[in-house]
Amino acid sequence: MSRNTELFDRACKTIPGGVNSPVRAFRSVGGVPRFIKRAQGPYIWDAENTQYIDYVGSWGPAILGHAHPEVIEAVQRAAVDGLSFGAPSEGEIDIAEAIAARLPSIEKVRLVSSGTEATMSAIRLARGYTGRSKIIKFEGCYHGHADSLLVKAGSGMLTFGNPTSAGVPKEFVQHTIVLDFNQPEAVRAAFEQQGNDIACIIVEPIAGNMNLVKPDAGFLETLRELCTQHGALLIFDEVMTGFRVGPQGVQGLTGVTPDITTLAKVIGGGMPVGAFGGRADIMDCVAPLGPVYQAGTLSGNPVAVAAGLVTLKLLSEPGFYDKLEQQTRKLTQGLSEHAQAAGIPFSADFVGGMFGLYFRDGIPRSFDEVSSCNIDQFKQFFHGMLEQGVYFAPSAFEAGFVSSTHTDEVIEQTLAAAKKVFATL
Ligand code: PMP
Repeated sequence: MSRNTELFDRACKTIPGGVNSPVRAFRSVGGVPRFIKRAQGPYIWDAENTQYIDYVGSWGPAILGHAHPEVIEAVQRAAVDGLSFGAPSEGEIDIAEAIAARLPSIEKVRLVSSGTEATMSAIRLARGYTGRSKIIKFEGCYHGHADSLLVKAGSGMLTFGNPTSAGVPKEFVQHTIVLDFNQPEAVRAAFEQQGNDIACIIVEPIAGNMNLVKPDAGFLETLRELCTQHGALLIFDEVMTGFRVGPQGVQGLTGVTPDITTLAKVIGGGMPVGAFGGRADIMDCVAPLGPVYQAGTLSGNPVAVAAGLVTLKLLSEPGFYDKLEQQTRKLTQGLSEHAQAAGIPFSADFVGGMFGLYFRDGIPRSFDEVSSCNIDQFKQFFHGMLEQGVYFAPSAFEAGFVSSTHTDEVIEQTLAAAKKVFATL
């Protein structure tokens, strides 16, 4: 029996499904998940010491590649001074200042420990600030697993074809309006009908949890306009896109300014960190200044903050994002060319260090279009690539990630593998 199988069998006895987050279980692609014991740069090694080129990057954080020496050193240095204080520390100010300096929409920011906490807190804040209950989210966007957001959510939920989670009473989601991404008229209609009750729109401004789906020209602008007009707040969930698609996230790329932004992944450099921030008058509604309660035992953890700070510093080096985008372009263009040569209906899209692969003709603009991808072909591709030593996300509905350690050589190796695999589909 292989070591991965042995570990998976053992894990399944004491961990539900053998994993601590569902998509890791390979349920939608079949087969045995790889148990990772080490990661360095663009590579991960499983329990059998098999090396893979990794395009998951811990689902986004590993933008500098795994175990970047400066990040590891910062973590080691911080750890020696104590793992958690439950009292304020200077690093928290440093990272708050670093985030605010980079994202003009953020005047004040509160740290949490995950993306889920960030979005859950941002929604509560929007409701507290406006005194309204209803929220708008979009089909296929995932904002973590807070009850009111598990409504036809994407990501793992989409993979399992399960539109809502058991355990969420319908009363908990009665205030959540779910609309189609890239359908501004539906948003306009919702505001016309219930504008006075809508606290906020929450949106992945470039969606990455129904695979990668970009907003149509004008879509985000319309959301901004409607929110302003009706006194609702616009929340950009940049947990995935923040510092991943460019130095100022999607807000920097589009010039659309949200009222609240949620962050996680990259800002923790691989450690558990999330954040929500925005205009000072909004953020001052949070406890202890205001009536919106929010707290966390490990929030602003000194070791996690140290990893995040050095990561943000390294991302600010001139040309970082140009180079990252160049590598992502090489990967997606190369894959498209090989697929075309093999006669496989396939398309690919990217922004910064984030990409989408679609087994269909044409880049999808909506959840419905993403849903029309050829899942069987994706599964064959996924396993074929895994055999060739390339680890893509084990689901047709996830975006992929390139790091600054994905050199030309690494991309070329990936493309050579893909050429072989496309020929077998
Ligand atoms: N929002 C978005 C856009 C995400 O991509 C994710 C995680 N993939 C979350 C929220 C939830 O973050 P976490 O898994 O850290 O709770």
